[in-house]
Amino acid sequence: MTAKPLLLLDVDGPLNPYAARLPRLRGYTAHRLRPANWSSRQTPDSRALRRGLRVVLHPSHGARLQALPYELAWATTWMHEANELIAPAIGLPGDLPVIEWPELFATDPDGLYWKTRALVEWAAGRPFVWVDDMVTDLDVAYVREHHDAPALLLPIHPRHGLRAADFVRLREWAEALTSDPAAEE
Ligand SMILES: [Mg+2]
Repeated sequence: MTAKPLLLLDVDGPLNPYAARLPRLRGYTAHRLRPANWSSRQTPDSRALRRGLRVVLHPSHGARLQALPYELAWATTWMHEANELIAPAIGLPGDLPVIEWPELFATDPDGLYWKTRALVEWAAGRPFVWVDDMVTDLDVAYVREHHDAPALLLPIHPRHGLRAADFVRLREWAEALTSDPAAEE
């Protein structure tokens, strides 16, 4: 039996549609959270720090992601705090694997998104889908060149987050992979 492909999850954009135009996105719940990476950039004792970072999450996303034929892992600046703070709010287990970035927001010499090289290394040749709001054609080309397995970079607009069509796409991609591992590039 073949191992399931990886589904590498970004938080801000796909799960937290931070650029939503509507103040209340249907089905989403607003949370006030204090991830370390955000808190360290706030003024001590400030109102912003007391209030916390506003994050909107969909409580059914966890169940919908877990219903897909993938192994889930976090690919986010939240790193281990995704398990602590995001997972319980959307109904995911709090022990998913986490990609630990060597440096957050590092400038890439070739203009790649700062996550891309570390993510490809972490995937270590396993098929994956990566959902993120920041990937570009450069990243797609890099993955094609440096990753010896099928991979899909699925851009998610931060205005919308993951939508029904994305879940369909994810399921279809994994099913095509299982039925014919050579078919998907
Ligand atoms: Mg993002």
